[in-house]
Amino acid sequence: LFDALADMAALALERVRLVEDLDRAERAAETGRLRQALLTSISHDLRTPLASVLGAATTLRDLDAALPREAKADLLATIIAESERLNRFIANLLDMTRLEAGAVAANLTAQDVAEIVDTALRRMDRILAHHRVVLDLPASLPALRLDPVLFEQVLVNLLDNAAKYAPEESTLTVAGEADGAHVRLRISDEGEGLPPADVERVFDKFYRVPKGDSVRAGTGLGLAIARGFVEAMGGTLTAANRADRLGAVFTLVLPVPPEGRRPDRATRAAA
Ligand code: ADP
Repeated sequence: LFDALADMAALALERVRLVEDLDRAERAAETGRLRQALLTSISHDLRTPLASVLGAATTLRDLDAALPREAKADLLATIIAESERLNRFIANLLDMTRLEAGAVAANLTAQDVAEIVDTALRRMDRILAHHRVVLDLPASLPALRLDPVLFEQVLVNLLDNAAKYAPEESTLTVAGEADGAHVRLRISDEGEGLPPADVERVFDKFYRVPKGDSVRAGTGLGLAIARGFVEAMGGTLTAANRADRLGAVFTLVLPVPPEGRRPDRATRAAA
C-alpha cells in the first residue's frame, strides 16, 4: 500500500511540475508579447512628439524671416508642449523601472496635503489651462506622513489623466476629507468614465481602455505608477465611476499617523 501511495504521490508531483512548466512557458510567451507591444508603444510615444518638435524647429529655421510673429509663437509653443510631453513620458518610464526594481523607498515625513496639492496644481498649470479646477479641501486636514516627491507625482498622473480624458471646459474636482484614521482624497472629472469591467484593469501596467476613436497619447503606465507610489506610502488608490454624473473618480486613502488623529465620536463615547 505504501509503495502504491508513493507512486501516486510521485505521479501527482510530476503532473504539478508539467503544469508549472506549461505555466512558465505561457508566461514567457505573454511577457514576450507584452515586451513587443511595449516597444511598439514606446517608439510611437517617443516619435510622435519628437516629430512635432523636429517639424516645428525645421520650419522656424527655414522660414524664419518669412514667418509672421504669431506663427513663430505657435511653433515655439508646440516645441515646448511636445518637449514637456516627452519629458513626462520618459519620467514615467523611469518611475516604472524603479518600481519594478523595488527601488522606490518612500521617505516619509510630516506633510501638509493641501500644500502638495497646490504644488501639483501649479506644476500642471499649462495642462489644466482648458479645464475648470475646483478645490474642496477642509482647512483642518491633519498632517500626513508622506513622501512629497512621490505624492506630487501621484497627483500629477491623476490630474494629467483627468485633463486628458475629460473634455475641455469641464470641471475637475480635488476633494478631501478626514475621518479620524484616514484622509480620503478624491480626484473626479466629467469625462466618459471607465467601462465597469476596467475599473481594476486600468491599474495594470500598459493597460489602456480600448477606444474606437483616435487614441490619445499615453503609455498605460501612469496609474500603475500612481498606485505603486501610494502603496509605498501605506495608502490605497482605487478607481470608480461617479454616481452623480458621467465621469471617473480616483480615490486615495492615506493613513493619519496616531499623533495626528483627533478622537472621533466612537472613541470619545468609549472614553
Ligand atoms: P495612459 O493615460 O498613459 O494610457 P494610465 O495608466 O494613466 O495610462 O491610464 C490607463 C487607462 O485608464 C487610460 O489609457 C484610459 O483608458 C483610462 N483612464 C485613466 N484615467 C481616466 C479618466 N480620468 N477617465 C477615463 N479613463 C481614464
